[in-house]
Formats: sequence, structure tokens, C-alpha cells
Amino acid sequence: MVSVILLAAGKGSRMHSDKAKQFMEIDGKPLLYYSLRTFDASIADEIILVTGKNDIDYVREEIVEKYGFNKVRKIVPGGKERFNSVSKGLKACDKRNKIIMIHDCARPCVTNRMILDSISGARRYKACTVAMPVKDTIKIVNEEGFGIETPNRNTLYQIQTPQTFDRKILEEAYERLRLSGDTDITDDTMIVERYLDIKSKMIEGSYENIKVTTPEDIRIATLYLSGK
Ligand code: C5P
Repeated sequence: MVSVILLAAGKGSRMHSDKAKQFMEIDGKPLLYYSLRTFDASIADEIILVTGKNDIDYVREEIVEKYGFNKVRKIVPGGKERFNSVSKGLKACDKRNKIIMIHDCARPCVTNRMILDSISGARRYKACTVAMPVKDTIKIVNEEGFGIETPNRNTLYQIQTPQTFDRKILEEAYERLRLSGDTDITDDTMIVERYLDIKSKMIEGSYENIKVTTPEDIRIATLYLSGK
């Protein structure tokens, strides 16, 4: 049994827009609609939607009820950082569900194939993430803006979501994070890696599974989503 934590509690400050990123429209529908549609139609058993405290009624009425999504079990308020929002979502998941899948609603082009592969991956490896090999050469840069190191590109992946875990492992990792007081966390594979030394399996994602972050990404996502 699978719980999905769908994250929509960010501020999206790099979008420089009055409207929160998750509610910006693509083809007349809010960004959040697209990933919600894909998860609602998937084999996942429940969706826990995490959004801003003041956006809960809007999300319930204007997205979940309006489009008739029926796997959304709870809509809970998020936290200051992404990992705070995941932690709140995790507490709201049905404790009987053994697999927890975490997805950023900022990635509207997630597909059913990625969801199915991620569930199989979590059953087999306990921790996995959708990812793609990087296409560009990546540099480590010093404070003055000079490249100081060039990691071997064959060892580099760009990490996407969904990220999917055995529930016990994720809960344990989040408990250790809480005790550590660390705040430099950018995703969930990093948490199981750092506190439990568990390696996440890379599951093939897609170069279309972009994270909508800056205004030009809206145009690209519109193109990828057209006709879907
Ligand atoms: O800001 P960024 O694009 O990195 O956020 C990734 C995802 O995490 C987005 O879907 C965003 O809504 C979510 N998030 C959240 N709570 C936060 C920060 C980000 O749910 N405090």
C-alpha cells in the first residue's frame, strides 16, 4: 500500500510572481493540478497534500473538489523548509502503508511509468529516486567564481522526484534529522544517505520531468504538457 506526499507548500521566490508557483496556470489549470491528476489516476492508495496554511481551503475547493480527485485523504499545512513540509506529510500518512512516495508538485510532467518503476524500486531497494544522467559538464566553483574541480560526468545524475522509500526507513531518517538539528537538506535521498548510510537506487526519469522554478520553465512545461 502506497502513500503519496505531494508537496505544494513552497513560496517559489525564484518565480518573482505574486501568485505562488504551485497555483500559476498552465493551459488554464494550476500547476498543482497536473501532478495531482497523474497520482490520482495511479495505483497509489492515498495522497497527502501539503500546502500553505492559508491555501488549504483554496486547494480543497478550487482544485481537489473542482476536478473530482478522490485519493486526497488529507490536506495539511507545510513548514518553513521543504523537509519540514515532508515531515508534516509523513505524520499524516496512513500508518498501514509501507511505501511512501514524495513528489514536488513543481514537477508537473511526472508520468505513471515513473510512479510504477519507483514503487517497484522501493520494494526492492528500500530507497530510490527518479533521476537522469547530467548532460552538461559540472564544475565545483570557489567563492571568487573560478572553477576548481571537474567531477567525472559519468558519475553524475540530476535528481528529480518522485523519491520513494520504505516507511520505517524514512521515519527513522527523519527522527535522526530532527535530533541533529541540521537544516542544509535539499531532498529526501540525502536524509537516508546521511543519517542511515542507505544508498538510493536511481530510477530512470525523463528530461521532460523538469522542476518549474523560473518563468521560462512555465513555457517549457506548457509545451511538454500539451495534448497530455
Ligand atoms: O522551492 P522548490 O522548487 O525547491 O520546492 C520544491 C517543492 O517543495 C515544491 O513543490 C514546493 O512547493 C515544495 N516545498 C514545500 N514546503 C516548503 C518548501 C518547498 O512543500 N517549505
